Amino acid sequence: MLLGVLDHLPLALARAVLAALRGRLSALCWGLTPLVLPLLSWRRRSGPDTPAAPRENKDETVPTPTSVNYHFTRQCNYKCGFCFHTAKTSFVLPLEEAKRGLAMLKEAGMEKINFSGGEPFLQDRGEFVGQLVQFCKEELKLPSVSIVSNGSLIRERWFKKYGEYLDILAISCDSFNEEVNVLIGRGQGRKNHVENLHKLRQWCRDYAVAFKINSVINRFNVEEDMNEQIKALNPVRWKVFQCLIIEGENSGEDALREADKFVISDEDFEQFLERHKDISCLVPESNQKMRDSYLILDEYMRFLNCRNGRKEPSKSILDVGVEAAVKFSGFDEKMFLKRGGKLVYLCIEPNS
Ligand code: SF4
Repeated sequence: MLLGVLDHLPLALARAVLAALRGRLSALCWGLTPLVLPLLSWRRRSGPDTPAAPRENKDETVPTPTSVNYHFTRQCNYKCGFCFHTAKTSFVLPLEEAKRGLAMLKEAGMEKINFSGGEPFLQDRGEFVGQLVQFCKEELKLPSVSIVSNGSLIRERWFKKYGEYLDILAISCDSFNEEVNVLIGRGQGRKNHVENLHKLRQWCRDYAVAFKINSVINRFNVEEDMNEQIKALNPVRWKVFQCLIIEGENSGEDALREADKFVISDEDFEQFLERHKDISCLVPESNQKMRDSYLILDEYMRFLNCRNGRKEPSKSILDVGVEAAVKFSGFDEKMFLKRGGKLVYLCIEPNS
């Protein structure tokens, strides 16, 4: 029953509060966080129910890395045509170095971590991400620990071992038509992406992990009506992203993908949203929001600045510290707050 409440409450609450009291947003977010977090972190284990107190930021130009998306690998077993975090390197930090960086981020004010890729379950058959998830929950006691995955490599034994440390699992699904998935590049021979999604949904129920769906709306799925399938899966959140062009990743000479044929107009995106307006857990993400309001850390633990339409890396936090690196992240803290990121802790960048 509590999950049913979670389906609706945080977003509705966030929207109402943001609209009514925008001018006092920052103070208000912190004031309400203790009310909202216990609902989202309903499976409390060893960690506290409330986040650490907000850190004083002496230099207002340095954003606090409250919520971080750590793309620790670029390797993936899928070949989505619009992918904007492609396999340009095969580098993955040693586990202990990754933990050191995560501890530094916690020290700098991180409360939410999302692990993404590439495909996070590819590295060491899911052991690497499992160890990181356990570390962040058990040692760092972060209020929110999540993973974005394409779901194809997750097995039940992973949930048995690490499920208790994971708050949210977001699975990428762009279509409920397998032929469209193959056209997009989310296909693996005889494996059926949609069947797999239902299996993962059940495991999330069994192991008390909140289940989310991320969809990238593009030329091949923009006409699709997903109402029934999304309602049947009943995710706590359905994030709907507009296909995004990033120079050097999915467009341009040095890119590994050519995503131009996937791009849709703002009007097309709006029509898709209109068709699914009855789904209360839907959260739309336009291109502008995606560019400015995500704090992205790459495989070297460098912040990526996407503001100029390509990913420009900072120095690694492991070399220069979090504060020096985050200055170059291009992260717009106001945009992050505007879309309720701090309040509801459910912002997730769409790859993998
Ligand atoms: S979009 Fe995600 S699943 Fe698709 S190729 Fe990129 S990382 Fe892999």
